[in-house]
Formats: sequence, structure tokens, C-alpha cells
Amino acid sequence: TSFGFKEVKEEEKAEMVGNVFSNVASNYDLMNDLMSAGLHRLWKDRLVSKLNPFPGMKHLDVAGGTGDVAFRILESINRVKQRGIKRDFEDILEAETKIYVCDINPNMLNVGKQRALQKGFMEDGSLVWVEGNAESLSFQNDTMDGYTIAFGIRNVTHIEKVLSEAHRVLKRGGRFLCLELSHVGIPIFKELYDLYSFSVIPSMGEMVAGDRESYQYLVESIRRFPTQEKFASMIADAGFQKVEYENLVGGVVAIHSGVKI
Ligand code: SAM
Repeated sequence: TSFGFKEVKEEEKAEMVGNVFSNVASNYDLMNDLMSAGLHRLWKDRLVSKLNPFPGMKHLDVAGGTGDVAFRILESINRVKQRGIKRDFEDILEAETKIYVCDINPNMLNVGKQRALQKGFMEDGSLVWVEGNAESLSFQNDTMDGYTIAFGIRNVTHIEKVLSEAHRVLKRGGRFLCLELSHVGIPIFKELYDLYSFSVIPSMGEMVAGDRESYQYLVESIRRFPTQEKFASMIADAGFQKVEYENLVGGVVAIHSGVKI
């Protein structure tokens, strides 16, 4: 196309994704803020508020990177616990919460562990960092109350495998939530967004992270990702029920969700 899309072979894709995140790990959080003008924080807040976390929950955040989603889940659970104290819900307070952060890239996880230590999240053992591939998870069947993946599924080699693994590890009644850059449908806004992502983002990557190509690749991967409707049907095909999605900022990002029944 006019944007110079390349056909990327599967092995090359996996390797490229590995390189991208090894190269960007240290600049990752800064770049997120710059590229989204801070909006990714609100999008992650929205994801977690839809999840509605509860004390004692077993949750898996896949492609969890430097921990942004997991930290929000823990903060949300801590708020529920504080309300629990007021109401004297002893059982809620005693349930053992486990939030697993799974990522294929140890550099991203290491940055996350450092951040967790600084935030004081490592003390009670509720946060567990696991190196692993979303396409073949090391967790047992029917063990998780919730599963989130934020800005992660777009870059995997086989989306279907990720979805079927999500379905496998969730308990019945467990919820799947995916936050991902998606497709803008509104004319004019779409053209402006294309201009921004194809010219501003790669330049920003070059200036801030010294790596134009990685950011060029990330932008192209957004265009290759299935549309909201198509992705929703893939989630349903993996066995999820009540599949729905919410567009944020006109579809710049979408939150898809489903339940394992
Ligand atoms: N969820 C975090 C956030 O929103 O800030 C990180 C998102 S980051 C854009 C994408 C992450 O996906 C990277 O940390 C990368 O290492 C991870 N990743 C890519 N392919 C993966 C795979 N097959 N399995 C697990 N993680 C993967």
C-alpha cells in the first residue's frame, strides 16, 4: 500500500516482536505517555474498572510488560479492601489475592519488578511475575477468575492460540478483557490519525528511543490487526459468550470482553 506494508513471515514476526520490546523496554513507559499523550493511563483505568477486581481473585495479565495493568488491579482491590474494613467483612480481607503478570520478554518484566518494589507492591506476595508465551501458557485449566491483555495480542504470531489459551485457563464465569489499538471509522479523524501514526510516531521513536524502525513496525501492526467486528467473532470462536466491545476515542482503542460459561 502507500504506507509500504510488508508481508512478514511468522518466524520473522516473532523475532521482530522480541527485538522491538528488548529495544524499547527501558524507554517503554515514557514512549507510551508520549505517543498517547498520557491517554493510555485512562484506557487502562477503564479496562480495570470493567474488570471489577475483587479481593481473593486469581487473575492473569498476559503481555503484562512493566506491570501497568496489574498495579491498577491491585490498587483497585486495595480500595475494595479498605471499604471492607469499614463494613467488617473479615472473609473478604483474608482471601488470598494472586495477580500473575505473564510476559515473553524478561527485560520488560524486570522493569516491572523494579517499579513494583518502588510502589511497595511486592510485600504481601500477591503479585507474581512469570516469563511465558501467551500462545502456550503454563497455568492449569479453569484456574483464573479474570484474564486481561493490554496492547499485547496485536503482536502475537497466532491470535487464535492466545484466545484459546485464555479460554482454557479461565474458570467458568471467568472474564476475558482485551485492550488494543484498533480501527478508527470516522472520516477526517481517520485521516488525521493515519497522519499522526505514520509520521509522528516513527519520528518520536527515533528521537526518544533512537529506534525508528521498531515504532514504524508497531504502527504497521495496528493496521494489520482485525477490525473490531472481526476480532469479536474470533473471541466468540474461541468459545467465549457475551462477547462485546467498547470503542474509546472513536476506535483508536477498543476494549473487547467475553465470559467463559
Ligand atoms: N500490557 C502492557 C501495557 O499495556 O503497558 C505491555 C504492553 S507492550 C505494548 C506488549 C507486551 O507484549 C511486551 O511486553 C511484549 O514483550 C509482550 N509480548 C509480545 N508477544 C508476546 C507473547 N507471545 N506472549 C507474551 N507476551 C508477549
